[in-house]
Amino acid sequence: MTEKSKNFPLKLASVVEKTSPGSQRRSGVSPVATPQTATRNAATSHANKPASQSNPVNATQQRASAQPAPSSTPERGSPLVSDSIRKAMVARVARQGVSDAKVLAALEAIPRHLFVEPAMASQAYIDASLPIGHHQTISQPYIVARMIEVMRDNARGGVLNNVLEIGTGCGYQAAVLSLVAKEVYSIERIKPLHELAKTNLRPLRIANIRLHYGDGMLGLPQVAPFDGIILAAAGLEVPQALLEQMAIGGRLVAPVGEHKQVLQLIERTGQYDWRSSTLEECHFVPLRPGTV
Ligand code: SAH
Repeated sequence: MTEKSKNFPLKLASVVEKTSPGSQRRSGVSPVATPQTATRNAATSHANKPASQSNPVNATQQRASAQPAPSSTPERGSPLVSDSIRKAMVARVARQGVSDAKVLAALEAIPRHLFVEPAMASQAYIDASLPIGHHQTISQPYIVARMIEVMRDNARGGVLNNVLEIGTGCGYQAAVLSLVAKEVYSIERIKPLHELAKTNLRPLRIANIRLHYGDGMLGLPQVAPFDGIILAAAGLEVPQALLEQMAIGGRLVAPVGEHKQVLQLIERTGQYDWRSSTLEECHFVPLRPGTV
């Protein structure tokens, strides 16, 4: 069912510039930013407290122990993709309420423009999801950061060994995750996107990402349990298999719903106990079964 990437492990330290970015990728993607409701929600979510919270997530907690992410990477010369624009993006995400220094540093270290079509590079650092083909999107920077921050807010001071992402898409969030977790597993159900993620991640030479092609709703029982699970696509409920693959003390963050979606945090508190809380509204592509 799954296929391990043959291109990993690779090292982030030796990031190289793509000479012909996107040349091996699909074409025909419209270079238009997709508005994402979470952008607006982000601006207000800290003013308006979540509707229901059994155990409020302390997202404002500063982590003094946060490690700086690897320093900036070689990039295309365009000022549109410069470090300063990415820094501005990170500052905006921080203003929207993300305060985990390690997450912000990871966001600053990963060149988001390398995960979008060259025609959209100028939009790579705006706070929006963008089309990546096959009716899917790269998630907006705020929601990527927010989900990882919530996942890290565990009883172990943010230490994460195994984490699982459902919905690799172009590979951006997996790259960010690789800077906050020891091992990152990411599953994609659309074969060309699984291949696209491999192509995008290869030059970054990240040693701790394992890409799988398969139905993420089944998880990866052979690698479980996971300290953290992030779903990048919204189902009507969180698949049972994923709940069972959480470590005790582990945290799962997922968008849930159809037209109206909310970000849900599920913590596994015991062998047979899970606790769920609702965080904020969001908008994701749908979680679908099977592979294509
Ligand atoms: N993580 C990406 C977001 C990708 S969009 C980022 O960094 O921006 C969500 C992805 O979830 C899509 O590529 C979609 O194909 C995928 N997806 C939906 N249902 C899935 C499933 N059951 N298993 C694996 N991937 C799934």
